[in-house]
Amino acid sequence: MKKLYSKRSVLYSLEPIGKGTPYVESIISYITRLAFEHNLNVTTLLYQLVLPSIPGDKKLKSWRPVQTDYLIMSVGKTANNVISALESLTTRSDLIELTLLNWKSILKPSVVSKKKKWCARCIKEMGEKQEALYEPLIWQLEEINYCMIHSVKLNNICLGCKRELPHIRSKMVIGYCLYCGDFLGNHVIQSDHNIIPTKEKEIINVYSQLLVNSNPNKVPTPLFLFHLLEGMKAINPDISTIKFAEELLISKTTMYNYIHRKQLPNLIFWAKLSKFLDLTISELLDEPELNEKFITGILNIQCEPRKLNWVDKDSITKMGKDLENYLKADTVKSISEFAQEESLNLKKISYHFPELYGRAKEKSELIKKAKKEKYYKDLETEIRLFLRNGPSCLSEVYKRFNIHKKQFKKYFPDLHREIKINHQKNVFIQKKKIREKQVRELRGLIMHYHKLGIYPSINRIDQDLLSRGALRNRKLLDERIKIMKELDYDL
Ligand SMILES: [Zn+2]
Ligand SMILES: [Zn+2]
Repeated sequence: MKKLYSKRSVLYSLEPIGKGTPYVESIISYITRLAFEHNLNVTTLLYQLVLPSIPGDKKLKSWRPVQTDYLIMSVGKTANNVISALESLTTRSDLIELTLLNWKSILKPSVVSKKKKWCARCIKEMGEKQEALYEPLIWQLEEINYCMIHSVKLNNICLGCKRELPHIRSKMVIGYCLYCGDFLGNHVIQSDHNIIPTKEKEIINVYSQLLVNSNPNKVPTPLFLFHLLEGMKAINPDISTIKFAEELLISKTTMYNYIHRKQLPNLIFWAKLSKFLDLTISELLDEPELNEKFITGILNIQCEPRKLNWVDKDSITKMGKDLENYLKADTVKSISEFAQEESLNLKKISYHFPELYGRAKEKSELIKKAKKEKYYKDLETEIRLFLRNGPSCLSEVYKRFNIHKKQFKKYFPDLHREIKINHQKNVFIQKKKIREKQVRELRGLIMHYHKLGIYPSINRIDQDLLSRGALRNRKLLDERIKIMKELDYDL
């Protein structure tokens, strides 16, 4: 038999899932599974066992999160205290690895999404493999909207009941909708192509590295960038803040603010920096001054020719050939993507081959246009599939597909109109149903009092109606008069 807990622990020492991978379980997923193992409600476990055992903090002990439950997964004091309490209750020391707490000095406090997100395909596969259902933390990160495994958008609305899901409620079960009970793995939207935007890919890559190394040897200090730059200057005196900013393609002011902690760098910055220095995030943050690769890289910065248009003859010939190849090729790459892959400098190319470059640019524009059209066509297919699950209003669609309303109206005018009309129709039908129900109820009440020999006055009826105050409505008042007249009341 598997030994689940040691005698000294108050709660089972349940093994967390996915430690040391980008798909490490979130602490809320862990708490939910732990509650299930103990046959307790999630909130009972949290409020009666975990929060009371936080030493000292009175405010946290009485904390009953409704709008702020996500804080448990974030990188602040709440998360820190909850993790410590849980670690002592389960006698585990690795629960901090289910958070990004060790990386808090480079992350914004708003790192976690306020509402739940999930990949329906991942949940479906877990179900099919009969593995324990769990939710990885990576789904809950505010900046991440795609599942890397399936290249699909994460869901943020239950398709069964069209509601957003909170992170913590008392009767929660992983993988199921809290409100309608649907298995979230059933909500797979079948559409083929989903291109993850490059910027998002980079963000996912950085977060994945942070999650894999959620228990690093060294944690970056707030002045990390300041010291890094000092270290770079010591190796190569040519480097300055301005130079550093130039190399990373950000403005001088932004770089200055980053270095002096006036502004927290975003994750894209860390992605650029690790790419620029050719170091993984953990290599980068762990005393890079002692890393040979780092030193060579820094020394190489000065070796590059700095004059923009200075190129030797052979390179010019090669450039022309590369450009011709691009024009001939049956490619779907834009000229800048091509240039990046072949390490070509477009400024130099346009200087030496203006005519060829002009043609390449035209070709590139056509490719980009076709890509954009395809993107919006695929998106439309996806939206239409989503709409098949039942009527939706526009704001739901904007939220589900993370699209701005102006953009939506511009690219999908027909769809915009259709959804609007359908929604109006739906609202009208709903209203009509409610009115019909009210009239039936009204008739029932009038008949009831009439039979008892009591006068069905407006006040009396209104007090008994399910929706009180409904009789203030003119049309319902008219209905009352009609029914009363049928019963021969003199009005
Ligand atoms: Zn997935
Ligand atoms: Zn639901």
